[in-house]
Amino acid sequence: MRKVKPLDERLWARIDADGPCWLWTGAKHRNGYGAINRGRRGLGTAVVHRFVWELLVGPVPEGMDLDHLCRVRECCNPDHLQPVSRPDNVARGAYRAGAPRAFRCDHPETPANTVRTGRQRTCRTCKNEANRRYRARMKASST
Ligand SMILES: [Zn+2]
Ligand SMILES: [Zn+2]
Repeated sequence: MRKVKPLDERLWARIDADGPCWLWTGAKHRNGYGAINRGRRGLGTAVVHRFVWELLVGPVPEGMDLDHLCRVRECCNPDHLQPVSRPDNVARGAYRAGAPRAFRCDHPETPANTVRTGRQRTCRTCKNEANRRYRARMKASST
């Protein structure tokens, strides 16, 4: 059986820390984040920047994601990472990437506030308000 090198060794060998960003040069997840095989069958792959954080800083708080302050997905320098709550990360990511907002209002475009109809995304808050106004109008016209 081929002996797998210790995880640490494989990890640091693939990080290019010449610049301010510690760039992962190994395999990547489909979403662009670094991936490292945990080395044991059944454990799957770990997300590199999260793994480095856990190694150097400590466990990531429950329900939190690590946001890249430098916006470099391959980067795993803990100084460039910040734990943020999940919906927050999604919303901020969308803003920063310059993605067009699906909502025409100023309500947060979080998964919890989004109603999906096919490809369309609408604001739940506005939809609820519109429904309320509609019902009020119907009630007014029936009397
Ligand atoms: Zn960085
Ligand atoms: Zn809205």
